[in-house]
Amino acid sequence: MTSSSETLSDLEAKVWACSLCDLGVSRLNAVPGEGPHNAEIICIGEAPGANEDRQGRPFVGAAGQFLEECLAQAGYARDEVYICNVLKCRPPNNRDPLPDEIQSCSPYLERQLELVNPLVVVTLGRFSMARFFPNRIISKVHGRWKQVGERYFVPMYHPAAALHQGSLRATLLEDFARLPKVVERAKASRETAPNVVAGQPSDEADSGLQSEQMSLFD
Ligand code: URA
Repeated sequence: MTSSSETLSDLEAKVWACSLCDLGVSRLNAVPGEGPHNAEIICIGEAPGANEDRQGRPFVGAAGQFLEECLAQAGYARDEVYICNVLKCRPPNNRDPLPDEIQSCSPYLERQLELVNPLVVVTLGRFSMARFFPNRIISKVHGRWKQVGERYFVPMYHPAAALHQGSLRATLLEDFARLPKVVERAKASRETAPNVVAGQPSDEADSGLQSEQMSLFD
């Protein structure tokens, strides 16, 4: 049950106490997410790993270091961005999230999006992308943007994928380097149409950013 006065801190407390799925039993710590409560950008990963499970914080291992590097070269400090995951608890042995786990955790992510109200949502990896765009293929749409309601979404590869597959490193850095342009665009569009209903796909034509290879996907 959510109340209209619920804050992100209230939500985090609910996540820490959550037992909606079996991961609530196997976890050491739940990992709700962290960052400014009014961040312009939210980065959404897949699920906590072993380091995150131990510390109760998202992206604190090797993938997190690379995420910080991607953000830094785009001009953002880690603590300017809200960082969370589709799943708030670690799946045993880092196995893929199960559909019922994603479903149980889904209201937490939805509420985080409502409360932070970011301009831009960066999905990291296929599970995060599939949460919003179930039929997309990451190799086709990574680094491209889509406006949905009042937000811009940019699917990106997962930073851990770049650690395993070296060629993705440059791709991720390039995709992140263009993020400020998407933020600019999202800001301008929120200023001109502040009351667009969230969740309604925009039929806005692709224009300015296409020439910079940061094109719309649909
Ligand atoms: N991978 C994720 O998807 N999330 C984390 O928090 C850490 C690694």
